[in-house]
Amino acid sequence: MALNMNNYKGYEKKPYCNAHYPKQSFTTVADTPENLRLKQQSELQSQQAASFRGSMNKYDRLVGQEQIEACTKHYGVSKQ
Ligand SMILES: [Zn+2]
Repeated sequence: MALNMNNYKGYEKKPYCNAHYPKQSFTTVADTPENLRLKQQSELQSQQAASFRGSMNKYDRLVGQEQIEACTKHYGVSKQ
């Protein structure tokens, strides 16, 4: 699946396509300390996604769309 600026999703500063985006469901959320912590974490992650998106925009201007073609899963996550 080809990714572009419209359909990729950033997660932990890595690009994923829609199919491979790590899904998190918070269907039953109680205000336990653990859940509050997770909630803060997911807010942080969306901030990171936003800043990632910003850097992708910058990168996109430099190299075009090709860098986004491979989502993290397709590219292989074994490379660290
Ligand atoms: Zn993918």
